[in-house]
Amino acid sequence: MRLYEELAKTGLEDLKMMTALETLDTASQEAAAGGWSYTHFLGYLLDGELKARHRLRVKMSLQFARFPYLKRIEDFDYGAQPAVDRRLIEELHTLRFVDEGRNIIFLGPPGVGKTHLAIGLGVALAEEGRRVYFTTAIDLATRLSKALHENRLPRIMKNLTRPKLLIIDEVGYLKLDKVQASLLFQVISGRYELESATVITSNKAFGEWGDVFAEDAVMASAALDRLLHRSTVLKINGDSYRMMEKKKAGVKLANEESKKAPKG
Ligand code: ADP
Ligand code: MG
Repeated sequence: MRLYEELAKTGLEDLKMMTALETLDTASQEAAAGGWSYTHFLGYLLDGELKARHRLRVKMSLQFARFPYLKRIEDFDYGAQPAVDRRLIEELHTLRFVDEGRNIIFLGPPGVGKTHLAIGLGVALAEEGRRVYFTTAIDLATRLSKALHENRLPRIMKNLTRPKLLIIDEVGYLKLDKVQASLLFQVISGRYELESATVITSNKAFGEWGDVFAEDAVMASAALDRLLHRSTVLKINGDSYRMMEKKKAGVKLANEESKKAPKG
């Protein structure tokens, strides 16, 4: 009997069930006091262990993702941006597109919430403990061309093609040179082959993507072919949220000023 009592602890340790190990003594006491069934006791231990593991996975996923800041889909104000289809965003928020390997492309001028929505989808995936990686097009291109010079390209390519979801923000904001453009293309192709989902934000209409790919129209259209094959495109042609907020603040300020101003 003694043997099994000891094995309960060393066994949990060997199996790396550290939360179950930590709670074993108190759980056993509770079980005895509460007259739990054996199955109830086992379920209780496993529940604690599984929840702790999930929390750890979420934490690691959020760290791995390298989001510049955290935004949630729930924080998006649809009233402020009528160009955004709420039902479509809520459908994307189910993350089915990730399992289906679909690409999501947010297009529109600055400040309309493209990055917010992209991060929101990424955070939702990370909170399921799954792998997502956020980068901007220029960061991606710079890192890849550095890796190319240092003969580390295959490993970095693997890291970029493997996550369930890759978010490439700000495609088209800065011009890429030929090498950078071809490296970005390789990432897009690699993910296409693996049927992995990619979220892209861009201020450039597809017709201007030649510019994005260093004036190489053939490469641009090959990249678009792959991206658009299984994709959802959301054009957000609204006003900048920041400008709207500023204007609102400005109106408030002006009202207060006019209240303060002496009449007459
Ligand atoms: P874009 O990437 O299109 O340039 P951002 O997503 O960076 O725009 O949005 C700019 C800022 O405004 C961010 O802080 C974002 O959270 C906020 N924002 C934009 N649109 C909305 C919205 N409809 N509801 C809430 N916040 C928004
Ligand atoms: Mg942005």
